[in-house]
Amino acid sequence: MRRALRLLAAQAMILSKLIRGLVALPLFASACGGDAAPTEGVAADADDVVTGEGDNGKEDSTFASEPGIRVVVTVDWEGTDLSSANLAAMEAFRTQFPKVPLVQFLNAAYYTKAGASAAAVTRSIRRAVRAGDELGLHIHGWKRLFEAADVTFRAEPTFWGSPLDASECLTDCGHEVAISSYSRAELRKVIDYSIATLQRNGFGHATSFRAGGWMAGATVRGALLDSGLTVDHSAVPSSPLSGELRGLPLLDWVKTLWPRTSATTQPYSIAVGSGSLVEIPDNGALADYVTTAEMVAVFDSAVTAYKHDRSHAQVVSIGFHQETAADYASRVQRALVTIASHARTAKVAVHYVTSAGAIAP
Ligand SMILES: [Zn+2]
Repeated sequence: MRRALRLLAAQAMILSKLIRGLVALPLFASACGGDAAPTEGVAADADDVVTGEGDNGKEDSTFASEPGIRVVVTVDWEGTDLSSANLAAMEAFRTQFPKVPLVQFLNAAYYTKAGASAAAVTRSIRRAVRAGDELGLHIHGWKRLFEAADVTFRAEPTFWGSPLDASECLTDCGHEVAISSYSRAELRKVIDYSIATLQRNGFGHATSFRAGGWMAGATVRGALLDSGLTVDHSAVPSSPLSGELRGLPLLDWVKTLWPRTSATTQPYSIAVGSGSLVEIPDNGALADYVTTAEMVAVFDSAVTAYKHDRSHAQVVSIGFHQETAADYASRVQRALVTIASHARTAKVAVHYVTSAGAIAP
């Protein structure tokens, strides 16, 4: 699995019909332009999710109006490359689950590669984006991105503890450099540059964020606030990562940064100076690190918690990386099918939501 990591390193339906009872209030009003405003809330029953045929006259579930389990499916765009194989895998995902919106943490780094054609980059990203998706922001420590934002690149510290390969840096490098090592002011420049780049290319103004390697330390959080981002998805439990990342600095950093985050941790507020961010934990981690069964187990734990107290929803976050979608998106696809089945057995509603739906009352 380290290899998968290394690979990464190297490499509306806005449901106009807010379906089936969940009227999730958008606490964070959409600042997105284009056709990709955040989805307020999407509910679907098991068959909807499995077949994508939810509009074919099926009866509404009798329990769909309860808070239920809110599933957030996220995609991290690493800024490495946009291969047709991975984008095709994402298209297949969208075809199988047309009613599941994705929280897409897009990356402006693609636009900064040598010789990149902005139009071609935009076309590629668009292949995997659908109306109703939330378009957030993901940042890794790419040299060309940081330099484009007029920030002096730092080659360390890296997730793996090993120095960057100088030959790699001839093109671009820095994916594995922890962005939390930069100052708040430096990070703000990179965040603002990234937001402006994505906005200029039609992806709206991001309001949510996930840090590369989940490294949203203090300077990152401050910079998010400075740049007007209000929702962070970087908290992650270290236990699912402990196998793949054993002995690597990244695992220690995750443990230090998110010591109390577990598979059942729910959204909460993080104070940042006089302000605050909403943290939506990546409690089911990402598919490169967890199996389908492990994702489903996170869902099952949420069902157990929900059955103890049905007055408020339980939020589950699962997802994958664009750059390894061809290898790992299928794990999430199988998990969604099984989740739908378990929900039906447990007689609990499942709502597929973006950030606004996850943090709605
Ligand atoms: Zn990443």
